[in-house]
Amino acid sequence: MPDQYVYFFGAGQTEGDGRMKDLLGGKGAGLAEMARIGVPVPPGFTITTEVCRLYLQGSAEPEGLREAVAVSLARLEEATGKTFGGGESPLLVSVRSGAKFSMPGMMDTILNLGLNDDTVAAIAKATENERFAWDSYRRFVQMYGDVVLGVPAADFERLIDARKEERGVRHDTDLSAGDLRELTAAFRALVEERTGVPFPTDARAQLWGAIHAVFDSWQTPRAKAYRRVNGIADDLGTAVNVCTMVFGNMGDDSSTGVCFTRDPSTGERTFYGEFLVNAQGEDVVAGIRDPLPIARMREVLPEAYAELLDAQEKLERHFRDAQDLEFTVERGHLYLLQTRSAKRTGRAAVRIAVEMVNEGLITIEEAVMRVQPEQLDQLLHPTIDPKAEVQVLATGLPASPGAAAGKVVFNPDEAAERGTGEPVILVRRETSPEDYHGMVAAQGILTARGGMTSHAAVVARGMGKCCVAGAGDIEMDESRRRFTANGVTVHEGDWITLDGSTGRVILGKVDTVIPELTNTFRRLMEWADRFRTLRVRTNADTPNDAAVARKFGAEGIGLCRTEHMFFEGDRIDAVREMILAENPTGRAIAEARLLPMQRGDFEGIFRAMDGLPVTIRLLDPPLHEFLPHADSEIKHLARKMGVDTARLRARVDAHHETNPMLGHRGCRLGISYPDITWMQAQAIFEAAVNVAAEGVTVCPEIMVPLVATAEELRRQRKIIDEVAEEVFEAAGRRVDYLVGTMIELPRAALTADEIAAEAQFFSFGTNDLTQTTFGLSRDDAGRFLPGYVEQGIIPHDPFQSLDLGGVGKLVEMACRLGRGVKPELKLGVCGEHGGDPRSVEFFHEAGLNYVSCSPFRVPVARLAAAQAALRKN
Ligand code: PEP
Ligand code: MG
Repeated sequence: MPDQYVYFFGAGQTEGDGRMKDLLGGKGAGLAEMARIGVPVPPGFTITTEVCRLYLQGSAEPEGLREAVAVSLARLEEATGKTFGGGESPLLVSVRSGAKFSMPGMMDTILNLGLNDDTVAAIAKATENERFAWDSYRRFVQMYGDVVLGVPAADFERLIDARKEERGVRHDTDLSAGDLRELTAAFRALVEERTGVPFPTDARAQLWGAIHAVFDSWQTPRAKAYRRVNGIADDLGTAVNVCTMVFGNMGDDSSTGVCFTRDPSTGERTFYGEFLVNAQGEDVVAGIRDPLPIARMREVLPEAYAELLDAQEKLERHFRDAQDLEFTVERGHLYLLQTRSAKRTGRAAVRIAVEMVNEGLITIEEAVMRVQPEQLDQLLHPTIDPKAEVQVLATGLPASPGAAAGKVVFNPDEAAERGTGEPVILVRRETSPEDYHGMVAAQGILTARGGMTSHAAVVARGMGKCCVAGAGDIEMDESRRRFTANGVTVHEGDWITLDGSTGRVILGKVDTVIPELTNTFRRLMEWADRFRTLRVRTNADTPNDAAVARKFGAEGIGLCRTEHMFFEGDRIDAVREMILAENPTGRAIAEARLLPMQRGDFEGIFRAMDGLPVTIRLLDPPLHEFLPHADSEIKHLARKMGVDTARLRARVDAHHETNPMLGHRGCRLGISYPDITWMQAQAIFEAAVNVAAEGVTVCPEIMVPLVATAEELRRQRKIIDEVAEEVFEAAGRRVDYLVGTMIELPRAALTADEIAAEAQFFSFGTNDLTQTTFGLSRDDAGRFLPGYVEQGIIPHDPFQSLDLGGVGKLVEMACRLGRGVKPELKLGVCGEHGGDPRSVEFFHEAGLNYVSCSPFRVPVARLAAAQAALRKN
């Protein structure tokens, strides 16, 4: 049987269903499913994503497509009793994109297609509303001219503005039927002038132009950027939905709106949304007119409202998930135009998942799978410190929660450029998909216009970015790069702070605080913990970080970077003295100063992690981070060390390394200067026996970094064991401890069997392992690696998400070799990848015992680990 390229829906003749998202796209599958379960939708048909794929591969339309579309059009004419492109009752259609995964606003849509000089007259007659007919026509020419024929929308807007000025009116709605007729003619003339060909008046030609434009819109830079950010494959293609037009702008018994079956910001179970009377859908989404809250519809259009309430409940129960709906009421008749799984904030995702379990709608396993681990980040996001004194400039809509401070920029390109180096807030009258790259780069987004379902609100929420929308008190003056609110003028580059949870726009940079964790969050995490087998530890260098991580569920410390303990105050001087000492005596003096500092730090950490394992890594300072560079620093240190400045400078120069990342760091330091390892081991064991004496249960795991050979580890371990014996004897108390190593060099992975003979545990340092496997400097990769991702040479930044094909293979090999020697060898990971959900899934599969990540990523890793376990079963 040949492939079916077109699927009809509605009017009791639906061919597809909700499971066919691959082929019909999300929107097409949703329309088919709605029609199937008896929710009113305007009839139409969907051209499959397969056609788009063929089209984009360069081959023309597949054979038989034109015929299949013609058959469906004929069916549509029969179902609606209308004629496409003519007749007394003309059929108008919308042509919309719809990929498998929703890409809001990223691709093209054309409305009112089928209008020409004949049909406009027929519509005017049939509706007895000439103004409506001409308004639809001019909107169509404008949209088609922009989207299909490439005439900039602003040029049409200019003509409208000129006409309004001529008439002395402020709103589009003040223009008469005659004005709109003349505008339509002017629009068509503009198109002809720009494109060199007349505006197409044949409805079928219009239709094919629109279909091709939708396919082409899959490849626009903004659509590509969206897919890159959201991890959507480039080769999926979009479906095209051709749908009977229904009009929300046919008078006061008509309306259009967007609604959610639950609040997408908070997750509260309340019917939520906005609508506009006598308006087209685009007016709501574009945020041009301020919509009314959906509850008001009960008074304005009571029957349609009752039907809508029914439909939303039915749809949520049917899809067993919160839905995002678009609807139109045409002369009292309700039509659902779209249903899809609602985009929601992390907070809402958690609440909806947990409450749906309580309502018996989904299982606990489903709830755990429903929340994307990355979304939890948002729950842990900072909020404005309630004690901070703030100057509120304006209050807009709390469109997407969290708090963010940054410097004001007014232009998305500028935001994209400056946003990489410093926090920026993108301030716009309203946003459109063209602003996307700027929104990605900004810390937060502020718009002067638009509602809770405006582009800015929807997109920011999806990104988990703080957004205040529709702050009407703000007067924008973009040309002079400033805005005014409440009598205060804010210029580009000035600091402001946004509170996306309350809608406040605050002058200056305000402190933020970490939120309290909610009960629903705790419940979801409890459920996740039931399924996961991978343990989650944290990377923490201070007692405070350790305590925060423990609150987030960390089950130990997987990495304490001891060199980070020296960045505070003037401790760095002691480290510098140690490294730069001219002889063992000088080093011993510096070590003697460091020993008590280290011991005190370790005591604090052991106390905070009472009962849980704490992995302490021996010093691993890439030298350039620790040596003094500036003259003033060298002078200061020379004075402190009592040595001549020139001599010290010579020492510093002697330590200069061409490539510090591959230089004298990690265990190489301890091999050269065993006394440093001795001092650190002493500090760890003394701290351990001290707090053990207080009744704290300590489980130190001492980790040797940057090992390439088993012999390095053997020698370092020998020192550590000797120190332990000495300290235990002196204290008259023993504590259990482990000595292990990081596996962060390819040679270590390749000889993991030899190394395992000396190690009690392995912890994969995937940062260095990525650096050394790729031969790619961690410090310099940022300059060119993004280009690699953009060009599709690699799918993502390997420092963010593990390179499974290369680095992952080394990890697997090392696990196998290590466990071949010691079947019970404890395996963990402490590189940044320990908090990346995709990588966590890999570590689960590879059989690791734990991942370790920064405190705020601990819940993310817990959930990712649970999902990995559930997916495997
Ligand atoms: C690593 O290399 O993955 C690691 C955790 O160590 P660092 O980032 O400190 O080099
Ligand atoms: Mg490392």
